[in-house]
Amino acid sequence: MDAARFPESSKLFERAQKLIPGGVNSPVRAFRNVGMNPFYTQSADGCRLRTPEGETFIDYVLTWGPAILGHNDPDIRAAVHAAVDRGLGFGTNGPDEVRMAELITQIVPAVEKVRMTNSGTEATMSAIRLARGYTRRSKILKFDGCFHGHVDSLLVKAGSGALTFGNPDSAGVTAGTAADTLVIPYNDFEALENVFKNYGAELAAAIIEPFPGNVGFIMPKPGFLERLRELTAGAGTLLIFDEVMTGFRISLHGTMGKHAVRPDLVCLGKIIGGGLPVGAFGGRAEIMDCIAPLGPVYQAGTYCGNPIALAAGIAALEKLLRVNPYPVLEARGAAIAEALTATARERGIALQVPHCGGMFSLFFNEAPVENAADAMRSDKERFGRVFRFALDNGVFLPPSPYESCFLSAAHDEAATEKTVRVLCDAIKQL
Ligand SMILES: *Cc1c(COP(=O)(O)O)cnc(C)c1O
Repeated sequence: MDAARFPESSKLFERAQKLIPGGVNSPVRAFRNVGMNPFYTQSADGCRLRTPEGETFIDYVLTWGPAILGHNDPDIRAAVHAAVDRGLGFGTNGPDEVRMAELITQIVPAVEKVRMTNSGTEATMSAIRLARGYTRRSKILKFDGCFHGHVDSLLVKAGSGALTFGNPDSAGVTAGTAADTLVIPYNDFEALENVFKNYGAELAAAIIEPFPGNVGFIMPKPGFLERLRELTAGAGTLLIFDEVMTGFRISLHGTMGKHAVRPDLVCLGKIIGGGLPVGAFGGRAEIMDCIAPLGPVYQAGTYCGNPIALAAGIAALEKLLRVNPYPVLEARGAAIAEALTATARERGIALQVPHCGGMFSLFFNEAPVENAADAMRSDKERFGRVFRFALDNGVFLPPSPYESCFLSAAHDEAATEKTVRVLCDAIKQL
């Protein structure tokens, strides 16, 4: 970079690199997939981030999804201030835990009982343990390209050769852990039939992002989630929907506002924290009652149900119920997708812009992207050029071709129009 362009950010990043591995507390923030060094954010408001240099960007990262009402929403802020005045944490039960459980069970289909955690990772980790404890089975099934946080047993990728048995996707994940995780491609009916034919009786759970959002954004083929439900039910395998990203984002009811498939367990995070660190997992009461102190599956946490975090989350969910931003998010996403694909088509550039609810992504790819392998075949270099052009013109896309773009209620018509103009210009420069 661009030390001249972002002088304050450059100085911060230099200091950070001496003290923090890679200079970052989460790897995607290093911007390595777009060929530049990262900028820093000094403050954020509405749909915009402001850097220490005073530049502002229309933000499509939105804290990686949570800020669906825009940054620094006044109602969430007021709820947090009020909660701070009551105390930072109690170590006993607090009224907000009851309110949050009521909201989640009322809004999220298939959730009869719910436990709060501090992150999406804790939610998926606990849901997997619960599924194993409930079914008394060891193996789990995941889908290539679906990301469920940094849980050992879920940091597993497809093995080479005869599919299915997983390999560690990170150093430090043992071969033994990976061996209990089977991996098949998303949207692959044949692999799905085979894995249940061969291993169904050993599978404690199948965990899936119903609409994957962590390799860019992908939609299910008609019937795929339905078939997964039939096969899991037939095998006595629990179906876990990881709606950490899609919950309250694809619709108020997550992906379940768009299809009729209902899982046994649901993992939540991101939006339910209103910007603070919160996760949750829930599902059928009979399964949830296997958790301590009622049952033998252990799960606990000093900060689980923290009153400040829950105050932010409750304010966010209550506001989403009140203002229903989803039709507008859907329309803005569709308008962006339509404009970009039309511009690309005119120029003979292969571009797919899948979108639904408050999510979309850009795949420079000839064919519709149906799974992780398709996503990886997209033109990464083209995405990098679009990213840098957009940043030069005031629009911040996710700094990786394998992430989804997020919309918020604060992305008004003017911001959306500017985004369309900038991104169309970016495509014309390719
Ligand atoms: C972000 C994410 C997680 C992990 O949540 P954290 O709060 O970052 O631990 C899990 N699953 C999905 C689908 C996610 O997008």
